[in-house]
Parts: sequence; C-alpha cells; structure tokens
Amino acid sequence: MDGIQRGVIMADWQPTACILCECNCGLEVQLEGRRLAKLRGDKRHPISRGYACEKPHRLDHYQNGPHRLTTPLRRTADGGFEEIGWDVAIREVAARLAAVRDTYGGASIFYYGGGGQGNHLPGAYATATRAALGSVFKSSALAQEKTGEFWVADRMLGGQTRADFEHCDVAMFLGKNPWHSHSIARARVTLKEIAQDPARTLIVVDPRRTETAALADIHLQVRPGTDAWLLSAMVALLLAEDRLDHAFLAEADGLDAVRAAFADVDVAACCARAGVDEALVREAVDRIAGARAFASFEDLGVQMSRHSTLVSYLHRLVWLLTGSYGKPGTHYTPTGLVRFASGASGHRSPVVGAPIISGLVPCNVIAEEILTDHPGRYRAMIVEAANPAHSLADGPLMREALGALDTLVVIDVALSETAQLADYVLPAASQLEKAEATFFNFEFPKNAFHLRRRLLEPPPGALPEAEIHARLCEALGAFDDAAVAPLRAAAEKGLPALGAAFMQRVLAHPKLKRYASVLLYRALGPVLPPDLAEGAVLLGLAFRAAMDHGPALARAGFGGPPPMAAMALFQAILDAPSGVVFSESRWEDVRPKTAGGRIQLALEDLLAELGRLAEPDPEDVDFPYVLAAGERRSFTANTIIRDPAWRKRDRDGALRMSPADAARLGVATGDRVRLSTRRGAVVVVVEVSDTMQAGHLALPNGLGLSGRGTEPAGVAPNELTSAADRDPFAGTPHHKYVRARVEVA
Ligand code: SF4
Repeated sequence: MDGIQRGVIMADWQPTACILCECNCGLEVQLEGRRLAKLRGDKRHPISRGYACEKPHRLDHYQNGPHRLTTPLRRTADGGFEEIGWDVAIREVAARLAAVRDTYGGASIFYYGGGGQGNHLPGAYATATRAALGSVFKSSALAQEKTGEFWVADRMLGGQTRADFEHCDVAMFLGKNPWHSHSIARARVTLKEIAQDPARTLIVVDPRRTETAALADIHLQVRPGTDAWLLSAMVALLLAEDRLDHAFLAEADGLDAVRAAFADVDVAACCARAGVDEALVREAVDRIAGARAFASFEDLGVQMSRHSTLVSYLHRLVWLLTGSYGKPGTHYTPTGLVRFASGASGHRSPVVGAPIISGLVPCNVIAEEILTDHPGRYRAMIVEAANPAHSLADGPLMREALGALDTLVVIDVALSETAQLADYVLPAASQLEKAEATFFNFEFPKNAFHLRRRLLEPPPGALPEAEIHARLCEALGAFDDAAVAPLRAAAEKGLPALGAAFMQRVLAHPKLKRYASVLLYRALGPVLPPDLAEGAVLLGLAFRAAMDHGPALARAGFGGPPPMAAMALFQAILDAPSGVVFSESRWEDVRPKTAGGRIQLALEDLLAELGRLAEPDPEDVDFPYVLAAGERRSFTANTIIRDPAWRKRDRDGALRMSPADAARLGVATGDRVRLSTRRGAVVVVVEVSDTMQAGHLALPNGLGLSGRGTEPAGVAPNELTSAADRDPFAGTPHHKYVRARVEVA
C-alpha cells in the first residue's frame, strides 16, 4: 500500500494500458475496490513514457458503467431475453452454429470483430472457433477505415507503412487531427515540438481548422471531399518542376507512366476545385520537396471520403517522388508481432463479389451479403467485441440484416445495439479483467509489445474470450482432453518441453494446428500466473515473429535459433508488466517487400481514375451541405464507453456548423435543428464554430447509444449514412462526405 487518501485505502499503482485509441499508452491505475480511482501515464512504458491525454482519466465509466452483462442471454419466443447458465449457452450456441455449418457450409458463418483498440487477443482465440466451424469470411472496423490504404501500400511497397514524425523536418497530416485522434506516440508532445521549431514545418490538410490545423504553418483548408484534386495538383507540381529525388527513384518502376498520366493535370484548376490558394499549395510543395526528411500520415478524414483509395495512392506518390522512404524522419515498414495489414487476396465476397483486402470483406457490403436469396449468403454471424449495428453504415439496413440471420451470437461486455438483436449473448470479461494486448505495434526502429495483466477478477458470470472459445471448440468436438493432456504435462516442465510436444502433436495430427490458440490456452494458461493466462496464445505469435524478423529480434536481445528466440521473447513479454522492446530495426534494412523488391509507382487502375476528376460535380440542391458523420473529439472514442456521463463536455454531441451557415439559418449554439440525408433524419443540438467552413457540418462519433443501463445521448451517425456510398475499389464508406440538409427544428 502506498498511502491512505481521504480515508480510503488506495492500492499500489498498477500498470495497465489505455484502450481508447490505437496508441494504447501505458497507464498506472490505483484501485479502490473495483473502482479505477486514479489513473496516470506509466513512465516505464517503452513507447508512451508517461504520456496520456485526457480521455483515460475517466476510464472507470467503462469498467463500472451501468452496462455490464453478467450472465449469458438467450432470445425468447416473445422477442425478449432469458438468462441461462454457461453450460447451456455453450452447448446451444455450438449446436446452432454446427447446424448452420452442416446444412449450408461453414462459409455461411460470418465472423465480425475480434477486438477493439486495445483488445486484440479475442480475435486470435476466435481463429480456433472459426476453424471448427469452417468459417471462411470475416470483417472488422478496419474494413471501413484502412483497407484502401492497405491495398495501395501493398501494391506499391509490399506492405503497410508508417512515418517517423519525431525526426522529420516537414510533417503533413492529411484528414487527420492527431491532437484528438492521436495514432502517433505522444502525439501532442510531438506536434508541439514540430510547431514550435522554426526550422520545421507542419502542414495540415483538413476542411476544418482542427486543433492540429491551428498549430500548423500551412493549413490547406480544402473543401470537403476534394483531397484528390489537391493531391493531384501537388503531384503535378513535383513532376512539372522536377522536384524529384532521382537517385531514390532509380529503385522504382513506373515513373514514365506517372509522368504521362499527370501531363495534362491543370494545377490551377485542381486548386480551385479544392478551394485552396494555389500559392499556398506551391509553398507546401516547395517545403516538402526541399525537406531533409518528410513524414506524412493519412487518416479517416480522407479514408472515409470521396476518392479515398485514389487519395491513398496520390498521397504515396507525394512522398515517394520526393524520396521520403527508408531514412530517418520519413516512412518505414514496421516490424509487427502480427502482420494484419496486407493487400487483396484475389478472393471476393460470395454474394456481391467485393474484393477481400487484408482478409476482410468490406463492411459496407455485409448487409447486402445477408439480405438476399443468394445460396452463398451469410446465414449466421459471430460478433465479438464489436458493434456493427451501430458502427457500420446505414444502421437501419444493418439491423434488418442482423435480424434476418438464422443465428446471431454476440460476445461482448455489454448489451450493445448488436447484442440487442442477438439470439445468444455471451458476456465477456472487461479489458481489465483478463490479460490483454494490442497488435497495433508500429514503432521504429525500436518496437514494443505490452501484455497488460489482469487487474480485477471478472464478475461472476462473465468469462474471458479465451475461455469462451476454448469451451466452444470443445463443444464442437474440435479436440478433446486427450489432445490437451500431453501438452499440459509438457507445459508444466517448461516452455522448451511444451514447444517440442506441440510440434510432435501437430506433426502427428496436422489439423490440431488450426486450434493452436485455444490448445495453448488450455495447456499453458493454467501454468502461467493467473493474471497472465490469456497471454498463452502469444507463444505461437512469438514463434512466428522469430521466424519472420530474426535479426530485428536479435538486436533487441532475442537472438539464437527461432525456437530459443521465441521462448526468450515470450518470457520477456510475461516478465514486463509495462511492456517490452521486442525488435530493433535498421533504417538501411527498410526495403520494399514487393515481388521484385522495387517500388511500384504506376498503379494503372488508379492512374486511370485520375481522368474522372475532370468530371463536374452535379449540384445537389436538395442536400446542399456536406456532413462529416463521425468526428473525433475530446470525449469521443469508439462505443466501448456506453455511459454518457464519461463525457465531461458536449454530452449530446452537438452538430458543428459555421457562423455563416448558422446566421443564414437563424440558429445559435444550443438550438435544435433537423438534420436530414437521403437515408434518414434526426434532431440535433447545434454548436456554432468558427473552425468550420460554410457548407460543412460535423457530428461526433460514438454517440446515440441505447439500451440497458444507458441513458440515450446524442445521435448515432449511421442513422444518416448509406451503405451504397462507398469507394469503388476498396468498398470503404464515405462517412466524411454525406450530403445533408439542415432545417430549423
Ligand atoms: S493517446 Fe490514445 S491511448 Fe493514449 S491516453 Fe489518449 S486515448 Fe488513450
């Protein structure tokens, strides 16, 4: 105990991590019973080093909000739910899903989710359940965010890239407000360092004067949805003025085709279409081309808008033409423990024929893949740690689709909007009631992994997902205790014995490999300290990392033959409650991982798409505004915090609009307006903000939650979006470009 405060005994500070954005900053928490009484940044975390923004300080609203489920639920004939025991729930869920598999094939069982921002182990364990069911198709929120970028990055460079903002002298954020959405470690510290250094330049491309734009040297305040024109102008300027890194481009193919495609691009016309001053664009290009090191980041502001995949391509052209890859302060390919970002597999979804990128079916086609009489349609769905009824485009259509399934099983901590539609709801442990981790490990050259320990016992009736999947696999007959017993006996002797026994079993029974995650959990979990049991699956991932990234692991201290390196890494992960540096890469090793090892500049399909930019936008007199449906603000995250009391400010998530639009409508902050799109209409409170440009509106993400234990607050943005508004290449939604109308309520 390190003290008594206000008469309450406070436990020691214990390490954990924030679960509200992809950075997963290390935190320390003081518990008061089951309450998260105090939180602060963890200085021992190797990446965040004590940094934390304001969001996690009220994380107790997640852990102890009035929303927890503590018993499995089964749908009743009258449409309600009844509580059932775990044995019944597992038996019936397994039987229902097995019946769908046996009647229609495993491909008809769709899996969605697998974890949120800091919750990635459920997806690893779910691979075993999916294997037992023969489930083929899956998706997650990534398929409405990043798959366009992944597809482009894979074709140009052979993999996903990130940028080194700490060491750049020119930084650009494209559709990205790191002040609130972060994504880069210690975002506000890094932004301030760049902004305050006269030798460095901060460029922001955003229709709104965001908190990051307010710090910028150059704010290119584009009209909403016109980033493709701005970037076309930037690429055309680089080419026309020969501001290229020719030495670097000797390693690239396709420059001539790119030159030809941009020969007729009219820079002035593009700038005019984007609504930005051509002189300012020229200045930005001059700074980028003259930079010692240029780092750039694109995010949802462009990845959920018009021409999103084309924008990802044009964005890469800007930094590749200037040689901004593979040297400090530029771009790199991270050494991840898990490679979850890849390109198109060549496979397509069974009904719509949508491209499957990074193994994910586009979110915007899921409803179409259910609401059809096509024989290959999805008939059952497992949704885990995700809430597609709320978070995917066209909420009403998505709810109709989920309701049309033969069987919907939801694994979650709360009776979410999706769980409310389920046939069975299996209550999960919270992210603080099990060992848990993120696979969003993108740092360079030193990369770190943090397996955070269980802080609290799950309430009676809730189980960690690892246990749920192990029980489902057993009920499905995937394996029996005879398969586990020798592995458990070996685990008790130590990791080398377990490794040897595992290889022996898998060689003798290859199908067991498909159940490796839960086999490890069953065999190794009981041997691990109880607060780390769910970390068992990481042993398998450590083996894969040792095979894939041997030299980088060796530089971080995990050398030797892969089995030895993997076991040393796994042990180090277990032994480091605040996280461990697991790899150390070298800039000179950053190379394209394309088939020929060369950068591919010319993507013909996207170059052809350039021609479409010359087409005029039809005027939309009925819906003259552009709505950004889902803006990240100070107190917004995803929907895991269902308690609106979490939000210190802006409880109802106001609709932001410009002073000019407010004056025209005759409304002021606090007034209510009717906001309509072609898909729906809501009544919402207005906030007049001079950060907005005329014609542009913004609603925050994560609001409009409903159901048990939740007082509704705000508007669910997807009541207004359409699944048909999506990118022609990746199928990602146009949430940031929704045509809208506003009327005084
Ligand atoms: S930056 Fe992200 S992970 Fe870090 S404290 Fe803020 S919300 Fe949490």
